Amino acid sequence: MIRVDNVRFGYGNAALVLDGVSLSVAPGEMVALVGPSGCGKSTLLRLVAGLEVPSAGSVTRGEGAETGFVFQSPALLPWKKVRANVALPLELAGKPDTAAVQACLDAAGIGDLGDRYPASLSGGQAMRVSIARALVTAPDILLFDEPFAALDEIIRFHLNDLILGLKVSRKFASLFVTHSLYEAAYLADRILVMGKGRFLGQVVPGIDPALG
Ligand code: ADP
Ligand code: ADP
Repeated sequence: MIRVDNVRFGYGNAALVLDGVSLSVAPGEMVALVGPSGCGKSTLLRLVAGLEVPSAGSVTRGEGAETGFVFQSPALLPWKKVRANVALPLELAGKPDTAAVQACLDAAGIGDLGDRYPASLSGGQAMRVSIARALVTAPDILLFDEPFAALDEIIRFHLNDLILGLKVSRKFASLFVTHSLYEAAYLADRILVMGKGRFLGQVVPGIDPALG
């Protein structure tokens, strides 16, 4: 669903930010990206989303694949109710669908918050709205850029479980950038470890064989 082949990329004439990066993500698979600040994780997501174009190599997405993004900041429109915020991607596409909006609110665990305004929500609830909005177009690809970094640990645990459930029920291919190895190991099928501009290796989380 996502295929990145030997991609090189720099902003303008600046030094290369990505220097030969390759990866592929299958439908239903979640790959975590970890690495130090500034190594190019967000840039890689922007390339996969088609917001930047590689200077060499290629990025391919499944035929007609819808892509969704979840950022650390939920970026909700404060003058619109939760329901209208979630509906926005469908409105912009000219395909309003109130049933899909409610289904995504339910899937994000906020089925009863549709008529609230963003200012009345907790940080965790606002993040759930952001997730519902990302789901509403039934994306084939979901890109997460440190979505939970600003939230406290208990809320984060609940959101991690939400994402795991959605990964199974919605079957999107996803890249999940995080600074938390715990989160990466909990959520992802594979963890790609990034150094400056390139991959250093891959870890497959699993049960310690010594423990059976
Ligand atoms: P993080 O480590 O959390 O990804 P960064 O500080 O690298 O945060 O980047 C935060 C935002 O600022 C991103 O949207 C990134 O694209 C932008 N940004 C980072 N460095 C620059 C820069 N040198 N010039 C312009 N924008 C930048
Ligand atoms: P990460 O997400 O791993 O923290 P980024 O992809 O945000 O890394 O940034 C990688 C490098 O690209 C950094 O050196 C950052 O300063 C630079 N950078 C990011 N966004 C921009 C931008 N819009 N313009 C110029 N440089 C940028």
